[in-house]
Amino acid sequence: MSTADLAGAIESHSLTTCYYVILNCPDCGELRAAIQDMPTSRFIACPCCQRESDYKISAKGGTTRNLPFWQRGGYWLKLPWQGRLY
Ligand SMILES: [Zn+2]
Repeated sequence: MSTADLAGAIESHSLTTCYYVILNCPDCGELRAAIQDMPTSRFIACPCCQRESDYKISAKGGTTRNLPFWQRGGYWLKLPWQGRLY
């Protein structure tokens, strides 16, 4: 699917564009997140312990959820965003 197709699919389904990131916290392990904006910093604060952690962008997509949201070990984290992106 091309980028144009993705944009069209997002628009026709009223989705919010998001970036899926995989964060590796030294204390909490691997966490997955969907965030609205491409991070510009090399690190993202872990939502659990606030530690600045390495991450990589895994995909760009669309979602109907409120952003950002987090997933750890297959479970969605209910905590609100407490870290900072930049
Ligand atoms: Zn952590």
